[in-house]
Amino acid sequence: MEEKIAKLKAWIEESDNIVFFGGAGVSTESGIPDFRSVDGLYNQKWKYPPETILSRTFFERDPEEYYRFHHEKLVIDGVKPNRAHLRLAELEREGKLKAVITQNIDGLHQAAGSENVLELHGSILRAYCAKCRKIYPESIINKGNSVPRCGCGGVIRPDIVLYEEQLDEDVLYKSVNLIRNADVLIIGGTSLNVYPAAGLINYYRGNKLVLVNLSRTPYDSEADLVINAKIGEVFSRI
Ligand code: ZN
Repeated sequence: MEEKIAKLKAWIEESDNIVFFGGAGVSTESGIPDFRSVDGLYNQKWKYPPETILSRTFFERDPEEYYRFHHEKLVIDGVKPNRAHLRLAELEREGKLKAVITQNIDGLHQAAGSENVLELHGSILRAYCAKCRKIYPESIINKGNSVPRCGCGGVIRPDIVLYEEQLDEDVLYKSVNLIRNADVLIIGGTSLNVYPAAGLINYYRGNKLVLVNLSRTPYDSEADLVINAKIGEVFSRI
């Protein structure tokens, strides 16, 4: 472990072209549960799996139930960026980190001070009308407990990518370019089983692919450095 962290530290010191790609594990250390992890209480409260509730079809058919889930499972009060978010923001300010590409929708990288953040799945801190696309402040979807509606009659929705929806092409294109040209690619807090994570890694052409994850991933054998540890812990030491 010590040796691995020393190696990562050296690679970071030598580089000014690092890209970080992160998943749910980066936020769980801030106390945000991964909505995919269905706990024992889940079935008592919800008739459908999260992937169903967070789908486009479901949102359109049953916005009441969608928002019940949104308010209870997606909106988490009082969360703060953790050591990983903060160190990444610092690395950007130091001119070492080019961008953070994240699958998370919680805005914690920006809260930590990161500026170049590519949100593959959007953000619950932005809202717009599904019908006329008028933009609304995030409080309209994240506070209260009813379905927020626009003056036009449409339902106001979070600017997140629901299941069945395509990723934003511009965000995807920028992410591919960053990964393709990165010197060091650090991937953290993702098991790399969920689209599009696995596909994006294939664009990396360098020889410093770093995986930081608590458990093993299908890409461990392809990585140049694998650190099985908590991401916050690793980033507090580099
Ligand atoms: Zn509208």
